[in-house]
Amino acid sequence: MKAAKTACLVCQIIESKIPSKKIYEDELVMAVLDVNGAVPGHCFVMPKTHYPIIEQVPDKEIGKLFQVSNKISSAIFESLGAQGTSIFVANGIPAGQTVAHFTINVIPRKENDGVNLQWQPKQFSEEEISTVELKLKEHTKNIGYFEKEEKKPRAHAPKTRPFSEEEDEHFANQMRRLP
Ligand SMILES: [Zn+2]
Repeated sequence: MKAAKTACLVCQIIESKIPSKKIYEDELVMAVLDVNGAVPGHCFVMPKTHYPIIEQVPDKEIGKLFQVSNKISSAIFESLGAQGTSIFVANGIPAGQTVAHFTINVIPRKENDGVNLQWQPKQFSEEEISTVELKLKEHTKNIGYFEKEEKKPRAHAPKTRPFSEEEDEHFANQMRRLP
């Protein structure tokens, strides 16, 4: 990973070894203008840590990255008179990812701007789409459980166990009753 990081273009931009037009930076995230982008104002939002693909980015950081992308999208509307923005990720080589460092593209859009991110809608058979639905659902069951920020261990921390389904429901009912 270290060798890959040294050769990574994005890491070199983050470490200012390659000059860039930086438009935002905080402790985790940096955003720069893509000088060879689709249109002037095309931005890259990236984690300062070297994560090649989105699956490797911790939940906390992915949240931050999309928050920043959203704010940059707003800034593009306000400052550049955009009529829309495209916010997208090329994840993996077949998806068009060209640099092994996860980035979010935020692209200012105007009607008939010639930026092509479109595909032809197709008609799938019921069988085809149901098979995909089943396969996906098998893997999306626990999608709602996100990594939490690590808490400092407390002295004499009580042993925790996951709630049972009954307890879970009871808790949810209690919550619903609160004003
Ligand atoms: Zn990198």
